[in-house]
Amino acid sequence: MKKRIFSGMRPTGRLHIGNYLGALQNWVNMQDEFDCVYCVVDIHALTSLEDNSQLNRLTREMVMDIMAGGIDPQKSILFVQSHVPEVAELNTYLSMITPLSWLLRVPTFKEKVKLQPHNVNYGLVGYPVLMAADILLYKAEAVPVGQDQLPHLELTREIVRRFNTRFSPVFPEPEGRLTDFPIVQGLDGEKMSKQTGNLIELAITAQETTKKIMGAVTDPSRKFRSDPGNPDICNVYRLHGYFNSEEVNEIAGNCRNATIGCVDCKKRLAEKMNQELEPIRERRRELEQQPELVNQVLSEGAEKAGMIARKTMDEVRRVMGLA
Ligand code: SF4
Repeated sequence: MKKRIFSGMRPTGRLHIGNYLGALQNWVNMQDEFDCVYCVVDIHALTSLEDNSQLNRLTREMVMDIMAGGIDPQKSILFVQSHVPEVAELNTYLSMITPLSWLLRVPTFKEKVKLQPHNVNYGLVGYPVLMAADILLYKAEAVPVGQDQLPHLELTREIVRRFNTRFSPVFPEPEGRLTDFPIVQGLDGEKMSKQTGNLIELAITAQETTKKIMGAVTDPSRKFRSDPGNPDICNVYRLHGYFNSEEVNEIAGNCRNATIGCVDCKKRLAEKMNQELEPIRERRRELEQQPELVNQVLSEGAEKAGMIARKTMDEVRRVMGLA
């Protein structure tokens, strides 16, 4: 029996290389080793989304990127969170056993309050409970997390301990599967963000990708081609590490002794990145032409996820005295 893992992505639109390197590649690599349940968590998006008319489109864009990036619906369950409504029911029940004090101390809640002071809704504070419901509904035994996300998972584990002690041992305590999520900076050297447009989306064309890379910030102290550069502070160099690992050491040496200029260095990166991303773009284009296939994948994914969810909820209702 393979261990079951659960992981979700918020539908923020098209995936970019930060999502690709930080999450999607990891999802793809885990498909053979684990029983994977992958979800586009559209309900979570409601806590901060301003324009709901876009939600459906954003969700589908993300599903297509995930499939194009290598998630095989024959190997993994891929579905949309709201298509399995049992998650809302479990969220309600778990809310009843989760002390408010646990939720108020979560650092991301405080950050969100600062980010959207005009919209501090109930869903924001309850976000970690919905996250726990996502994981527990499918009885996931492991969740891929970065070091910084461990406190969130610990809250899920606390909820599990409380539930299992108070009612009956229904849920496994999910372990964190520590994953190295590289922090990929934007092309301007700042945090990647859709607002600033400093990112490279997976689905853009090779020409657009090259254009974006050619405009990337490099070592700011390198004013002339003959100046030695410092690859350690250059984001283009970091990207070489992900997309051009076989040449990365050579690039570092050539940068330090100024035998390569930034223009050539960026051209080389664009070439390598386009080589790797082209098959993904190709699959993405095919999927755009096949909306019925995407519908079918999502409907089958919801059916498979729903079967697990309904079984879990029968058990939950029974031990809680609701059935
Ligand atoms: Fe960065 Fe390459 Fe320029 Fe060095 S040569 S500063 S690694 S872009």
